[in-house]
Parts: sequence; structure tokens; C-alpha cells
Amino acid sequence: MTFCANCGKKLPEKAYFCSRCGMQTEEDVPADITPWEDLRHAFTKMGEEIEKALTTAGKEMEKAFETVRERIGETTSKQPDVCSSCGENNPAGSRFCHSCGKDLRGRDG
Ligand SMILES: [Zn+2]
Ligand SMILES: [Zn+2]
Repeated sequence: MTFCANCGKKLPEKAYFCSRCGMQTEEDVPADITPWEDLRHAFTKMGEEIEKALTTAGKEMEKAFETVRERIGETTSKQPDVCSSCGENNPAGSRFCHSCGKDLRGRDG
């Protein structure tokens, strides 16, 4: 319960000013007495932060995709496998020569 420090009038708990004499109560007037303004600012700031975060994430993703593209490029731009037996050019990654059937990897038999 709040009482006016000046005139002693009983005031509602959330009264910041005495309804009889206008004296400010001991309750500090909260900074968010205009909540919509603050909320608007908060949302604006939040929006900026989210936008920043999304932009950063987008750039990171682009970078990641770029790396993946480069990796794929490396793989596909590999020299074709030349058969050591018949000299045939086989597509990169071929396991066996498409001309003579030789095991192009050779190492494991
Ligand atoms: Zn008063
Ligand atoms: Zn061959």
C-alpha cells in the first residue's frame, strides 16, 4: 500500500503521483512508462541484430558453398585415367579400362 508522503492520502500501489496533491510518490517512475516506445526500439534493434546475423550466416553459407564447389571442381577436373595397358583415356574415377578391362587402380589387384 502506498501513501502520499506529503498529505498522507492512500494511493493505489502503482500510483506515481498523489491524486490529491500531485506529490510524486516514493515509487520511482519507471523508465518504461512509455512501454510501446521502448518495445519499438527493442524490436528495431532486434531486427537489426537478426538482419546482421542473417547476413553473416548468409556470407558464411556462401563461403561454404564456394568451398564445396571448389572441391567438386577439383574432383571433376582430375586428369582422365590413362590405361597403362592400352593407352586408352578413361573418364576420371574409372575403376577399369573401358577398352581392355584392365584394373586402372591396380594397387589392390
Ligand atoms: Zn498528497
Ligand atoms: Zn586399357
